Amino acid sequence: MFYQSTRSDHRVNSLQAILEGIAPDGGLYLPVDLSSVKVDPADLADKSFEEMAAVILHTLFDEFSESEMADMVRRAYGGKFETEDVTPTVKVGQDYVLELFRGPTSAFKDVALSMLPVLITEAKKKLGIREKIMILTATSGDTGKAALEGFHDVDGTGIIVFYPNGGVSAVQKAQMVTQVGKNVTVCAIEGNFDDAQTGVKNTFAACAKMDLTQYGVRLSSANSINIGRLAPQIVYYYKSYCDLVAAGEIAMGDPVSFVVPTGNFGDILAGYFAKCMGLPVARLVCASNENDVLTEFLTTGRYDRRRVFHRTNSPSMDILVSSNLERMLYLAAHGDYAKIAGYMKALNEIGEYTVDDALLAELKKTFFAGCCSQDETLAAIGRTYETYGYLCDTHTAVAVDVAAAYKKTEPAEKVIILSTASPYKFPVSVLTALGETPDEDEFRVMEQLNERTGVPVPAALADLKEKKVLHTDVIPKDSILDYVLKKVEG
Ligand SMILES: *Cc1c(COP(=O)(O)O)cnc(C)c1O
Repeated sequence: MFYQSTRSDHRVNSLQAILEGIAPDGGLYLPVDLSSVKVDPADLADKSFEEMAAVILHTLFDEFSESEMADMVRRAYGGKFETEDVTPTVKVGQDYVLELFRGPTSAFKDVALSMLPVLITEAKKKLGIREKIMILTATSGDTGKAALEGFHDVDGTGIIVFYPNGGVSAVQKAQMVTQVGKNVTVCAIEGNFDDAQTGVKNTFAACAKMDLTQYGVRLSSANSINIGRLAPQIVYYYKSYCDLVAAGEIAMGDPVSFVVPTGNFGDILAGYFAKCMGLPVARLVCASNENDVLTEFLTTGRYDRRRVFHRTNSPSMDILVSSNLERMLYLAAHGDYAKIAGYMKALNEIGEYTVDDALLAELKKTFFAGCCSQDETLAAIGRTYETYGYLCDTHTAVAVDVAAAYKKTEPAEKVIILSTASPYKFPVSVLTALGETPDEDEFRVMEQLNERTGVPVPAALADLKEKKVLHTDVIPKDSILDYVLKKVEG
C-alpha cells in the first residue's frame, strides 16, 4: 500500500513510511486512499486482541502478509501486558472505560510502542537496509519509558532518551534511570522539556546534513508522527467495540462515541481511522486540560498556539502544537495538500491559522471538543471513586469530565472513555483528589493510595524502588548533538 505526504504529492510504500517517520517535505504520511481501507467489525467479533491486530495491521501495511503480521504481533504483545486481552473495557456507571494502561510502563503509549520496534526491524529487513536504527526521543515522562521498554535489546536498533532534569515525576524518573538493556541510553538535560525537544529536533536537522551511514547508523523517531506508531492504536477501538457487542451491551452495527484525553492528537486520530475503516463511530470527543488550544480550534476553526502554557496535573496532555492534527486536516480537506502546507507554514511563522468554513463543518460532523480545569480534574477523580468505586488517573479524569458535558448534548449512543494511565503513575494528584494528604516521598504515596483504595499497585511500579540506577548522565541543554554524535561514532 502507498502512503502520501500531507504537504505534497510525495509517495512511498508502507515500509519506507515506517522507517522514515516523517516525509522529506516535513509532512506526515497517510494511506493514499484511506476510504478504500476497510475492516468490518463483524469479521473480528470473536477474535482476540492479537488476532484483531494482525488483520488490521496487515490491511494497512500489506507488504507484510497476514501470517507474517500475526507472528510480529505475537512477538510485540505476547505476555507483556497484565491482562491477556491487552486492552480490557470495564463498565463504570452508564459508561465504559477502555483501559489502555495494562502494559509494562502503565501508560497507553505501551500499546503502540510495543509494536513499533517490530515494525521497524521487519521493514528494515524487507528493504534490505543494514544500518542500525538509532531512535532519538525527548520525553516529558511517559513516551521515553514506553519507548525504552519497546526498544531495549531489539537487534539492529539503539535508543537514546533525553528528559528534563527535575522536570519529570520521581516515579517517571525512576522508571527511566533503572532501564536495563545493552542498546539503551538515558540522559538528563539541564533545561525543561521544550529545551530537550528543541535539542533533539536540531540534532535531527544537523544529522540530516551529515552522512551517518558511514558509521552504520540511521536516526529515527518513536514519536507519534510515525505511522507505525499510530496504526496499532486503531486496534483497541475495534476491540472495545467488539467487547461491548460480546457482553450484550450493544448490537453489532450500533453507533458508539469515544471520549479521548488528547495531547498530540495521535490517539483520537486512530479513532478517526477506525471510523473511516468501517467501525460505527458516532462522535469522537476531544478532551483537553487547561491547555485548551484544540477546544478552541474545533469550536471556532482558529488554531492559535500563541498562548500561556499551563503546567497541569495531567502533564502528558500539556501541549500547544498537536502534530497529528495535520493528518486530520488533510483528510477533512479531501487531500488538498497545498492548503495544509499553507496552514502549517502560517502556524510556524505566525503562530496561528484559521481553516475555511467547509473544513470546519467537516470536522464538526465527527468531533466534539471540551476542556476542564485542574480542580475539575481532581473533582472528577473523587466523584468517580465515591460513586462507582472506580479509581482513575488525572488524564482519564479529564475525559470523564468532558464526557459528562458531552452527554448533556443528549446523544443517544453509548459512550466509551479511553483511560490512558494507571492512577499509580500520578499518585500525588490522585491521592489528593481523594481528600488525603500525600507524603513527600512519591513511592510512599503509592502505598498510601493502595492503603486507601485497595487497588493493586502495578507490579512494574511496585518494585521500582528496589531497582538499581543505571543511568546518571546530566548534560547542558546545548550539548545534545555532541552527545548523540559520540554515541553514534562510539
Ligand atoms: C501521551 C498521553 C496522552 C495524549 O495522547 P495523544 O496521542 O498525544 O493525544 C494522554 N494521556 C497520557 C497518560 C499520555 O501519556
